[in-house]
Amino acid sequence: MLYQRSSALFQDAQKYIPGGVNSPVRAFKSVGGTPIFIKKAEGAYIHDEDGRAYVDYINSWGPMILGHTHPDVLNATVEQMKKGFSFGTPTELETEIAQLITSVVPNVDMVRMVNSGTEACMSAIRLARGYTGRDKIVKFEGCYHGHSDSFLIKAGSGAATFGNPNSPGVTQGTAKDTLLAEYNNLDAVQELFAQNTDEIAAIIVEPIAGNMGCILPNDGFLQGLRDICDTNGTLLIFDEVMTGFRQAMGGSQERLNINADIVTFGKVIGGGFPVGAFAARAEIMNHLAPLGPVYQAGTLSGNPIAMRAGLTTLNLINNDREIFSRIDNATEILATEISKIFKEKGIANHINRLGSMMSVFFTEQNSITNFTDVTKCNHEIFNKFFHHLLTNEIYIAPSGYETWFISDAIKDTEINKTLDAVRSFEF
Ligand SMILES: *Cc1c(COP(=O)(O)O)cnc(C)c1O
Repeated sequence: MLYQRSSALFQDAQKYIPGGVNSPVRAFKSVGGTPIFIKKAEGAYIHDEDGRAYVDYINSWGPMILGHTHPDVLNATVEQMKKGFSFGTPTELETEIAQLITSVVPNVDMVRMVNSGTEACMSAIRLARGYTGRDKIVKFEGCYHGHSDSFLIKAGSGAATFGNPNSPGVTQGTAKDTLLAEYNNLDAVQELFAQNTDEIAAIIVEPIAGNMGCILPNDGFLQGLRDICDTNGTLLIFDEVMTGFRQAMGGSQERLNINADIVTFGKVIGGGFPVGAFAARAEIMNHLAPLGPVYQAGTLSGNPIAMRAGLTTLNLINNDREIFSRIDNATEILATEISKIFKEKGIANHINRLGSMMSVFFTEQNSITNFTDVTKCNHEIFNKFFHHLLTNEIYIAPSGYETWFISDAIKDTEINKTLDAVRSFEF
């Protein structure tokens, strides 16, 4: 049995951890089967408890853009640990990373570090509300901004709607301040603004969506949001937790040439450690405590080990900008070749890709531009595809609503191994 030890460990885990996991997607609920338990990782590979080594296309859901255990990050972090684990006082490191971030990310003067993407987005909307004196926010169906209450909101019927709680424990009171629109649908956003004049503090959006599978913004969509925000005195928040330092050093703002007012980060920014951040122009960030009245804090925020890992990762990328074309090219080859192989096999599919993010959708649809399109894809075939790849030691995200993340450690050998596995897929 391929996953013998993982199965045993999963049995044990379920006794003490709800569902056996500390984040739901890891449980393989959507694809079925037993989650593999990982023992160690190096470069392009993760190694499971049964001794199998997988080409890793999850990369911790994005952070490991350099591949696993990059020696420079490892050494810098170990050296930092020797100086102490956490102080709860300012360190020079925090200024260094903030300085680097503000120098490479467009339209931001200051940055506040937090411990996760969830915290970053939660704090960003509080800041937007405090800055504008308004309560409502607009988000898009299928975009994920972490698990804080204001974002666990699902759409009612129609392209533009008031939100409903998407989880027990989220109150109607919270839900009423989150307005939902369909991704790539500017008319829906206009409609929400017409119905809620002068009440909307912010639009928050994944500028390149990755949490309903990879969905690209249509031409004019983000510029349209920018214009709507400017007309209405609303702040535009780009959630770059996934795209930041991945789509370009300056994230989607740089890659797509559109400025946001507040930007949130996570994933790559911590180099594999628990880090998030939000950044904006000084006139906005000045509203944040202790300078201003909008409260936000964190015992472990700016933790020196995490800052060292993040700073080292960001410096490595910043000093070798070719990394973006390398991972883009690797992803382009994967996307092109996979689609070619499927065409030969007569498997209907559509691949969305931008930079080093991509998703393979099994569908007859010619374009996949929003959450509804993704729900119409054949997730049964996806699940078979997932398990086929896993059996062949290729590890992609265990859901048809996720994105592949290509790291700089993935080279021709890994790409060829992956394509061989795709070639042998039968359904
Ligand atoms: C992962 C993610 C988050 C949440 O970050 P966590 O660190 O998991 O809390 C928020 N927004 C986007 C776009 C993400 O991809």
